[in-house]
Amino acid sequence: MKVFSTVDEIARFRDSGIKGTLGFVPTMGALHEGHMSLVKAAKEKCSHVAVSIFVNPTQFNDISDLKKYPRTPEEDKKLLSTLLDDNDYIFIPEVKEIYPEEDNRVFHFGTIEKVMEGPNRPGHFNGVAQVVSTLFEIVRPDMAFFGQKDFQQVAILRDLVKQLKLPVEIISCPIIRESDGLAMSSRNRRLLPEHRKRAGEIYKTLVAAAEMAPTHFVHDLKGFVTGKINAIPGFRVEYFEIVESLTLVPVNDKTDLQAGERYYGCIALYAGDVRLIDNIELKLE
Ligand code: AMP
Repeated sequence: MKVFSTVDEIARFRDSGIKGTLGFVPTMGALHEGHMSLVKAAKEKCSHVAVSIFVNPTQFNDISDLKKYPRTPEEDKKLLSTLLDDNDYIFIPEVKEIYPEEDNRVFHFGTIEKVMEGPNRPGHFNGVAQVVSTLFEIVRPDMAFFGQKDFQQVAILRDLVKQLKLPVEIISCPIIRESDGLAMSSRNRRLLPEHRKRAGEIYKTLVAAAEMAPTHFVHDLKGFVTGKINAIPGFRVEYFEIVESLTLVPVNDKTDLQAGERYYGCIALYAGDVRLIDNIELKLE
């Protein structure tokens, strides 16, 4: 596996006449099995794989969150070397390599940025769009792999690729969980032990809500999830929203879910000062 830190090295690799397809997995490092599942999927589908490790400052609306974000480059390289070979590379750039000048581009995503992470993390998706479009320009992948854990991000990136007419196929991969159900996240390592012990209840509550979906109003499902999580000491729900799977339009509190439609229940919460997100599909049949 090659390790690159400059845009020039990436361009030389892309221009060297590589055969077959290039799969790309953008990450912010502090890698875990969730990230590795994306790398495995890329390895299976593509002849070359590129993994970037870049903690993107423009997508953090909270400066202390950026400062506290875990950084473990040596462990990350070791882990990636178990899956990647000479056909593949990792890209660990400095901030000035990605942003030689300030990026002032403003993206618009209509209704899909009006809910959930959009209003709760102002500027977040604009920063994601800036970094992903820049990385796509540098790496020039055929396919890019993202986790369904960041459900809304996948919808934003599909829209980004469409708006910019980029020749990149976006592939969304399932959420990888710890044995108690907690969705793997780089942020989990910052959880206090007493919060980590109860964090499996997030997924268990989502599963219970999914089971209740065919027989309950949206209002009751929301009350159930919020009540359960807020009852855990030190946990605070930021939002639990039920949205239509493609448009991300929230389902009105007083209506029933419609058979035949696909919905997702999406949660963001704080466990102490650690912000976690998760989601589950709500099926009616
Ligand atoms: P991050 O490093 O948190 O920016 O994540 C990089 C990529 O890994 C994103 O596409 C995430 O959605 C994905 N990812 C993070 N956690 C998981 C997980 N538990 N299961 C699957 N994919 C994940």
